[in-house]
Amino acid sequence: MNISIIGSGYVGLVSGACFAELGNKVICADNDVNKVERLKKGIIPIYEPGLKELISINVKKKRLNFTSSIKDAVAKSEVIFIAVGTPSLPNGEADLTYIENVARRIAENMPGYRLIVEKSTVPVQTGQWVKHTIETYVGKKIKFDVASNPEFLREGQAIADFMRPDRVVIGVESEKAKEILTNLYKPLNAPIVVTDIKSAELIKHASNSFLATKISFANALARICDKVGADVGEVSRGMGMDKRIGKAFLRAGIGYGGSCFPKDLDAFVSISEKIGYDFELLKAVKNINQQQKEFFLGKIKDSLWIIKDKTIAVLGISFKPDTDDIRNAPSVEIIDALVKEGAKIKAYDPQAIPKVKKLFKQIEFCTDSYQACRSSDCLVILTEWDEFKELDLAKIKKLLRRPLVIDGRNIYDPAQMKKMGFSYISIGRKAVTNK
Ligand code: NAD
Repeated sequence: MNISIIGSGYVGLVSGACFAELGNKVICADNDVNKVERLKKGIIPIYEPGLKELISINVKKKRLNFTSSIKDAVAKSEVIFIAVGTPSLPNGEADLTYIENVARRIAENMPGYRLIVEKSTVPVQTGQWVKHTIETYVGKKIKFDVASNPEFLREGQAIADFMRPDRVVIGVESEKAKEILTNLYKPLNAPIVVTDIKSAELIKHASNSFLATKISFANALARICDKVGADVGEVSRGMGMDKRIGKAFLRAGIGYGGSCFPKDLDAFVSISEKIGYDFELLKAVKNINQQQKEFFLGKIKDSLWIIKDKTIAVLGISFKPDTDDIRNAPSVEIIDALVKEGAKIKAYDPQAIPKVKKLFKQIEFCTDSYQACRSSDCLVILTEWDEFKELDLAKIKKLLRRPLVIDGRNIYDPAQMKKMGFSYISIGRKAVTNK
């Protein structure tokens, strides 16, 4: 099939490269001319494991192209996916101006039948607005279909998620749209949920909100465990073994972040309010998430007493491991609060430093974990990258000014840390002191 993806970010590039890998001819379009020029030279603007290689193979096989001309992309493709950003407005509502803009540009350039597919995460009822926009701006009477095909990939394992999804969700209004999309996804051999557009839109918001709810549930449990001296890891393990609950997304930490959960929850609360439902449950989920960052900051303050002029080694800044994405990362809020209190931060992250450098001028960036720990007053873990789990802790202990580790991701074993002579503070588990 000839496909276009409008918006060449995390979702657009991964979907584009994967559709090409499945044998389709794909054009990835973006209005960021600089980004497109770099993509044409093989420079990938994001870090996503395996993506650079997949793009390179498919460009060589002439199945994948890049353009900054939506007109060109629309002319050459029967199926057009919209994968532009849907960020939050200050009031929490989803900003759909990019979606509207692209729908309008598609309408103005359609030479014949086109299937326009929302891949971006959008509030319920966006599909009908996309349809209305296209009807308004399409020049002559041209047939088209609108569909919803929300994306569920996770940054860090996006290619595997795209190629081996738990399910593909397709929201359609016509047999033709259903046939095109089911054929397109057939090679994946994945279960396909075919439904109406509104239900498909809701499946995405509901799924992300439910996952965020599980995280906040674990974090609320951690607060109770902290008070009574229980172990949240054990509680989650015991709960997760129940198949009705499942162990995924039950890890306590410093709260969820990233480009999806915070904005999708805001958008879901906002659209619910608009249509007359007060989604109190999700408001509580958001509050718990915010409190978790403050709770962790409190632990740092309790351990260091005065923050001003203390040197703090920070390991991990990306919102989760295996990505360079720092959008809404809880780490950024925590670092910002520490800097404001006068701490000197020495930070290391395997991938996110180039992006963090644009946010913070006053922190020292290190080339590895050991450099960050040298002569620091404590070590703070903010992202659970695998390489931090494998550190030489004896060496870390020697490098730190005092053996204090404050772990926001529970990556070390408290008993082991005690044996090594660390003071070790984590989330929802008994603190260990070296005294
Ligand atoms: P992103 O910001 O990385 O990429 C969006 C791209 O769209 C940018 O390159 C931008 O230049 C381009 N763009 C904006 N307006 C445009 C226009 N008018 N014409 C052409 N290009 C335009 O965003 P992302 O992370 O890929 O997310 C895209 C959508 O997918 C969002 O709705 C998001 O919620 C959803 N989503 C994201 C993920 C994820 O893990 N990142 C997962 C599932 C769904």
